[in-house]
Amino acid sequence: MQKAHIEALGALLKNPKNISVIGHSNPDGDAVGSCMALALFLKKLGHKVSVIMPNSYPDFLNWVPNQDHILLFSEHRQEVEHAVEQSDVVFTLDFNDLSRVGKEFQSILETFENPMVMIDHHLLPMDYAEIMFSHPEFGSTAELVYAIIKELDFEALIDKDIASCLYLGIMTDTGSFKYSSTTARTHYTAAKLIENGADAYSIQRQTFDANSYDRLRLLGKSMENLVYLEEYSTAYISLSQKELDDCNFQKGDTEGVVNYGLSIKDVNLAAIFKEDLQQGIVKISFRSKGNFDVNLFARQHFNGGGHKNAAGGRSELSLKDTITKFRTLVKANKTQLNEAI
Ligand code: 5GP
Ligand code: MN
Repeated sequence: MQKAHIEALGALLKNPKNISVIGHSNPDGDAVGSCMALALFLKKLGHKVSVIMPNSYPDFLNWVPNQDHILLFSEHRQEVEHAVEQSDVVFTLDFNDLSRVGKEFQSILETFENPMVMIDHHLLPMDYAEIMFSHPEFGSTAELVYAIIKELDFEALIDKDIASCLYLGIMTDTGSFKYSSTTARTHYTAAKLIENGADAYSIQRQTFDANSYDRLRLLGKSMENLVYLEEYSTAYISLSQKELDDCNFQKGDTEGVVNYGLSIKDVNLAAIFKEDLQQGIVKISFRSKGNFDVNLFARQHFNGGGHKNAAGGRSELSLKDTITKFRTLVKANKTQLNEAI
């Protein structure tokens, strides 16, 4: 982390300011956790803070402390516009490309004239922020927020609520401390957060043991639809709009399902395709093991991006044609896929 960036941030936060803290569309545990933690921290420094998400997040995040203050652009557009207009500083967390907040909200942020601060751990950042904390070597934005608070010398301000939000982000983005992005620092950070009041067991229970019966039925359908392309070390799942409707699909219900494909012994690439007839798209998640770069794959072929081993994208083709395109690409990448480790 560059000292100059910490100094610039310290200077920016020296006097009380109006601040907006913004996460990405379809917010996950890291987006909600890191935004809430940063907001609670900034409030303790005496700033007036609005937390904004482009749209709603899954029910399993309903336990997050102080979330009743989160503004959703999709539901409270005018309040959000007002909050952004009044802001002296905007923080964008857990994304590095303004398109990740959706077209309409993006156009509002593009006209914002005061400083922006990016805090993010994805690859290939866009150039929109005055102060950029862009650190793909961090497993989560929450871990990065903790590191920034520490560098600012304000670790003592981390209370139970801030610690719980940061723990949530780290836990969800590392697959409960399992993915390759988990480092010694990740564990040290988690330990510090537990010391500061995060109840690891309760956060784990409230986040992961919160399934609905319908969600498990959808998981069953996903396993039924799992296709294993042994020759290409690839597995994928598809869910049509009808199948989603039959299981009363709610936001977050397919979170993590793509990992079942990746858990097959020799699979190096897994994908899940979800049909969204309302938006006229297929939403896709990709996961990989080893060297196969799904960030690049999603960027080049499916209007997406993310990290080397976890990325997402979308297709405007039909579900069937999207899968045909995917299978063609997989065939073309046979050598890389079989040698991915
Ligand atoms: P997920 O598959 O869990 O939705 O996302 C995995 C990773 O890919 C996340 O880090 C997320 O930010 C990124 N990602 C997901 N969908 C998109 C997308 O449409 N565009 C870009 N650029 N990144 C995405
Ligand atoms: Mn993240």
